[in-house]
Amino acid sequence: MNPRKSDLHIHSCFSDGVETIGAIVERAVQLRREVIAICDHFWPCIGSNQGGIGLIRERREAIEVARADFPKIRVLDGAEIDIMPDGTFSQVAGGHEQFDLVIGSVHWGSDSSRWASAVIGASRRGVMHILGHFDGYLSTYRQADGEIVAAALAENDIVVELNSRYPPDNLEFLETARDRGCRFTLGSDAHRLNGVGRNEEQAKLADALNLPLCVPL
Ligand SMILES: [Zn+2]
Ligand SMILES: [Zn+2]
Repeated sequence: MNPRKSDLHIHSCFSDGVETIGAIVERAVQLRREVIAICDHFWPCIGSNQGGIGLIRERREAIEVARADFPKIRVLDGAEIDIMPDGTFSQVAGGHEQFDLVIGSVHWGSDSSRWASAVIGASRRGVMHILGHFDGYLSTYRQADGEIVAAALAENDIVVELNSRYPPDNLEFLETARDRGCRFTLGSDAHRLNGVGRNEEQAKLADALNLPLCVPL
């Protein structure tokens, strides 16, 4: 599976995206993507006022229908789950382990040291596969914090996302994560159809910095 033909962070109408899962998958097939992950938020995560086991089941059924309709593309049943300031994850009805892929994301403004302690705590819990938009809500960045975060991610085999909606500012962190042995994913964070599969800039960044891309499954 070619990671350049992946988009592992897409929101559907089951959270704060506007498109149906069928429309997203059809678009990804047109763009010749080989694998995508529908990663919605579920209440009480930030970005969603919907949740509950019924909604999650309904969404899973829509993913199964899309898999049957478009057998050439792999469609992962994912979730984007909030990393809380104390390093725990926001709850999701039915548990975190029901998903094929979990993106853990900080969705609250933080300085470098609060960010580091939350992400390091979260990385040890065996919940997330990918750290989403690592500096999307970061107000300050210190390289000393980046070093310990990168070490914790590498130790726990957590992949660092290159997010098109929140392009990374702190490239030094990416180089540190690379040097520690981390791998990287492409995620558009699309909320609309025209964002699906838009990862060209982040793929170029991966080339420029020699960041190894992967599909972590
Ligand atoms: Zn997010
Ligand atoms: Zn997102």
